[in-house]
Amino acid sequence: MSEDCIFCKIRDRAIPAKRVFEDDLCFAFEDIDPKAPTHILVCPKEHLASLAEADASHEGMLGRLCLVAAKLAEKNGEESYRTVVNTGAGSGQSVFHVHMHLLAGRTLNWPPG
Ligand code: 5GP
Ligand code: ZN
Repeated sequence: MSEDCIFCKIRDRAIPAKRVFEDDLCFAFEDIDPKAPTHILVCPKEHLASLAEADASHEGMLGRLCLVAAKLAEKNGEESYRTVVNTGAGSGQSVFHVHMHLLAGRTLNWPPG
């Protein structure tokens, strides 16, 4: 837990969010500023600042993020989607609690910017 982490506060329901999923390892909610018609963030319950801090103990949790994102895409009827984990400010990471973006519902250009 990081006391000034916005995603820890969402996890703890200290601030509101449109939560769409929760299990023992992770929780998911709609992005407040969606970049696509479907834009969901899948986060570990454990506070971990970024992938750069991950170690072997996080393997199960990181795998779960992928599987939950895929399940949520399927549930939303999305055949094509993109999962993104920004790591470091230079990549666009602005919240330093690991999260996987699930983006879908529009054409997703490649390569991303
Ligand atoms: P990053 O830039 O770190 O990869 O992604 C952070 C994401 O969190 C952004 O897409 C941003 O819109 C979203 N976000 C930031 N603050 C909040 C919030 O308070 N609630 C929700 N639901 N999303 C947030
Ligand atoms: Zn956190």
